[in-house]
Amino acid sequence: MNQTNQKPKTKFIFITGGVLSSLGKGLAAAAIGALLESRGLTITIQKLDPYINVDPGTMNPFQHGEVYVTDDGAETDLDLGHYERYTNAVMAQKNNYTSGRIYHSVISKERRGEYLGGTVQVIPHITDEIKNAIMQLNGDADVAIIEIGGTIGDIESLPFLEAIRQFRFDVGRQNAIFIHVTLVPFIKTAGEVKTKPTQHSVKELRAIGIQPDILLCRTEKPLAKDLKAKISLFCNVTEDEVITAQDVKNIYEVPLRFHDEGLDDKILEILNIWTGAPRIEPWEELVHKIKNPSYKVLIGIIGKYVELKESYKSLHEALVHGGIGNDAKVELRYVSAEDLERKKPEELLEGCHGILVPGGFGKRGVQGKINAITYAREEKIPYFGICLGMQLAVVEFSRNVAGLKDANSIEFDPQTSNPVIYLMKEWFDYRTNQVQVRDELSDMGGTLRLGSYPCVITQATFADKAYGAKEIRERHRHRYEFNPEFREVLSQNGMVVSGTSPDNNLVEIVELEDHPWFLGCQFHPEFKSRPMKPHPLFHDFIQAALKYSGNK
Ligand code: GLN
Repeated sequence: MNQTNQKPKTKFIFITGGVLSSLGKGLAAAAIGALLESRGLTITIQKLDPYINVDPGTMNPFQHGEVYVTDDGAETDLDLGHYERYTNAVMAQKNNYTSGRIYHSVISKERRGEYLGGTVQVIPHITDEIKNAIMQLNGDADVAIIEIGGTIGDIESLPFLEAIRQFRFDVGRQNAIFIHVTLVPFIKTAGEVKTKPTQHSVKELRAIGIQPDILLCRTEKPLAKDLKAKISLFCNVTEDEVITAQDVKNIYEVPLRFHDEGLDDKILEILNIWTGAPRIEPWEELVHKIKNPSYKVLIGIIGKYVELKESYKSLHEALVHGGIGNDAKVELRYVSAEDLERKKPEELLEGCHGILVPGGFGKRGVQGKINAITYAREEKIPYFGICLGMQLAVVEFSRNVAGLKDANSIEFDPQTSNPVIYLMKEWFDYRTNQVQVRDELSDMGGTLRLGSYPCVITQATFADKAYGAKEIRERHRHRYEFNPEFREVLSQNGMVVSGTSPDNNLVEIVELEDHPWFLGCQFHPEFKSRPMKPHPLFHDFIQAALKYSGNK
C-alpha cells in the first residue's frame, strides 16, 4: 500500500535535528511557517514524536514540559503551541503523532485481520502508517512542515526517518525537502567554532539515505563565509544552503533572522513555488515593541514545577503577550508552592504586582497556593487563577469568606462535607454534543474535559470588560468542576459567576467584586494567546498589575 505515488497538492518540508536536543527545531518550524505565510502561502505543521506514549497526556511535566491542548481536544506536544503562536495554522489531532499512536493503529489493524495473514513489519507497515499520517495533511495547505522529534542517531526515530526518505523518493525534490537543524559550537579554549559535529550528523543522515537540502546551523556567533564553505564541502550542500541560525534574545526575532539569511527564498526556490515579496513588517514591529517597552511589571507564578519553565511554556508566552499589549516588559518570579507552606507569602511575593496560580494536578503544594490566594485577595493584589488556580480560589473563598471551614476539591479530600469542587456525574458536552456520564472509577485519561467549549459571559464583569463578547470559546483540560450546589452561598458572600456553559450548568469563570482584579477561569486561556493578538484576560491582568505597581 503506497499512497504517496501520485503528486501531492501540498509541498512538504521535513525538519530533522542533529547533534543534540533543544536546538529549537520547533521554533524553527514555526518561524519557517510564519515566513511562508508572510508571502501569502497557507501552511500547516505536524510534529512526529518518536516516543511510545500514545500522546503526552499522561506524561509528567518534568519529563516532557507542557501538554498543549488543541480545539478538538488533542493533548499534544508543546511545539504545537509554537506553531499556533507563530502562524494561522489550526492544530488538531492529526498534527501530532507519536510512535505509540502509529504502532497502536497498526497493531489494532493486525488484530482485526486487516493484513490478511501477512507478517507485519516495521518496513513497510509502520513506515506506510507514518506516510499515511503525513499524507493526511495533503490538500490542507500550500505547504506542510513536518518536524521529526528526537535527534539523528536515536534508535527510536529510525522508522520516521525511513518513512520520510521514502516519501521524498515517492514525490520528488520539487515536492518535498529536508532541512536539518544542527549545532556549530564555539569552543572557548580553542577560540573558534567547530563544524565537526555538523559533519558527523549529516554523515549519519546520509547513511540512512537522507541528503539534507538546507542546513540550519545553531550558533552563538555568525558563521563566516569560509566556515559556510567548509560545511558546504563536507555536507554536500551549496553555501547558500547553509543558514546561520544565531542565538537571539527574543524568540519572535527568529523569523526575521531566517529571512535575513535568505532561508525563505531558498525554500521556495527548491520547491519551485512562486510568491510575491514577503510582508515581514508586522514581525519587525512586534520585535521593536518587545525591545522597547515603556513600563515594567513583576508577576509571581505559584507552581509545582518551578524548576522547569518548559512546563508553563504557553503561560509564559501569554504573559509576555499581555505585556506587549500594555507596552510593558513582564518579569516573572516563579515561587514554589511548597515554600509558601513554610514561609509567609508577603516574604516570597514581595514586590509582585500580580499573582497567578496556573493549572495543576495533585495535592502537593495545594495549601501553599491557597495561602498565596488569601494574600492576593486580602491585600487586593491582582489575581489570575487558571484551572486549578480557579478551583483553589473557590476553595479559599469558601473557607475564609463563606465560613465553610472544610471546603475542598474532592481531588484533595474525597470525604469533605463541603465539596465545592467535585466530579460532575452527568452533563451536556457542547463539544461532542453528547451527555457525559462519569464516576470516581472512570479511567484516568478518559474522564478529562478536553478541548474547546463555549462560555456565556455575564455583563458588567471583569470577563465582560476583557472579552467584550457575549459568548466565547476556550480550551479545557481538567477533571473536576465547580459544584453548582454552592453557587448560591458563594454568590451571597460576594463571589461572582461571570461565565458559564450555555445551559448555565458548568461554572467557567468566577471573580470577586470588591477587588481591583480577581478572576479565576476553569479553562486555559494561555493556549489561545498570540504575540500579535494578546489574549484579553492576560491583557487585562497585566493592565491591572501595572495599575497596582503605580507605574502606569
Ligand atoms: N486538577 C484539576 C482538575 O483535574 C485541575 C486541572 C488543571 O488545572 N488543568 O480538575
